Amino acid sequence: MIIPYGNIDVDVTPSKIVAVARNYRAHAEEMGASIPEEPTIFLKPPSSLIGNNGVVILPEVSKRVEYEVELAAIMKTRCKKITPEKAIEYVLGYTVFVDVTARDLQAEAKKKGLAWTVAKGFDTFGPIGPKIVSADAIDPHNCEIWLKVNSIYKQRGNTKDMLFTVGELVSHISHIMTLEPTDIIATGTPEGVGPMSDGDVIEAGIQGIGVLKFTAKRE
Ligand code: MG
Repeated sequence: MIIPYGNIDVDVTPSKIVAVARNYRAHAEEMGASIPEEPTIFLKPPSSLIGNNGVVILPEVSKRVEYEVELAAIMKTRCKKITPEKAIEYVLGYTVFVDVTARDLQAEAKKKGLAWTVAKGFDTFGPIGPKIVSADAIDPHNCEIWLKVNSIYKQRGNTKDMLFTVGELVSHISHIMTLEPTDIIATGTPEGVGPMSDGDVIEAGIQGIGVLKFTAKRE
């Protein structure tokens, strides 16, 4: 996956995408979930990635596929067991990510006490882009973050409302697994998540980064 970074192109080939659940209070509340005491993480497969202007395929087995706009940190160098204070030094930059979720399959899995991987892991469930901005170009904890479906605002938040900072998330994750260059950390979504239908045009934006656009198509 080639993503522009200033005047160069970065080949983003992550060994993993680590996503954070419930990192905004209002989204945890809309999902009927508790406020976590430490970050709740899960993995999305690199095979879910698509670039800017791509197509998200709504799989036949799901009746409700939802968008979740998120700030994504792209890792620069390998790291393990780093402190929150040092963590940002290992981040190349930031981009926009949409954590596409088959909400009905997730609800079914939660009810049965099973893993959510099925709900998060379909091909095309990870739109990313349109570019990476360097880690010092923005304050990742004070950016407007929003998503529109067919030009209508559905999500409007600010990354200042994240429960755990990027440094805290990267540090926490690095104490579990070694992070590799171009690994992606998706930092959670603000409130307002909702479904996509065949033909919907989605625009997801973060202040200081840009707008990621994609179309939803029924399988
Ligand atoms: Mg998410």
